[in-house]
Amino acid sequence: MQLSDDLYAFPWRVLNVNNCNSYLIDGAFKILIDPGHQHLFGELRSSLRSINIRPEDIDLIIATHIHPDHVEAVQSFSSPSTMVAIHEGEYHYFQENVAYYYGHNPKLDFLLAEGTLKAGNIELEVIHTPGHSPGSICLYWPSHKALFAGDLIFEGGVGRTDLPGGNADQLKRSIGRLSSLDIELLLPGHGNLIRGQEEVARNFSLIEKVYFGII
Ligand SMILES: [Zn+2]
Repeated sequence: MQLSDDLYAFPWRVLNVNNCNSYLIDGAFKILIDPGHQHLFGELRSSLRSINIRPEDIDLIIATHIHPDHVEAVQSFSSPSTMVAIHEGEYHYFQENVAYYYGHNPKLDFLLAEGTLKAGNIELEVIHTPGHSPGSICLYWPSHKALFAGDLIFEGGVGRTDLPGGNADQLKRSIGRLSSLDIELLLPGHGNLIRGQEEVARNFSLIEKVYFGII
């Protein structure tokens, strides 16, 4: 699904199989966000092929967090020119605590911290949004007013906080931090994309009411 001349969404459509939505920033520098489960990579590979992109064309893979349904398929990108990055807090927490729990240890090239990430001619704001996991991030792309939200916030829902390192108070604070952003496109890790400022605002206020009791 093409969202703009340099942005594609590959939403996961098979509802009884857990995998995430993947996104591609298709500039001169190509960034893939959340490649998904390894055993379901064929689906993403064919989506990329349909727009004439090969795995080795990807310059950077960013995982919004380290859960296997988001990051596992990094192993299908074997080209040395493809870099892989996650947030530093995510890396350290899972190295120290629960690497065994997920049974995978993705190859990483560098770690992300909160702030501006300049990759080729693309600038993304890395926003540390713990709650679903300790080093979950959202990526805000100001030039497109797009927020890649990972598993923080969905259409009509929020990320679960019962997995290792999850924290409901942090999740609430993280969602609160996003309210000042000018978002036209909310691109969550699962479920439907939300387009248009009004729809995005409606979704934030629905979540504040339903999940946090804020009226
Ligand atoms: Zn997750």
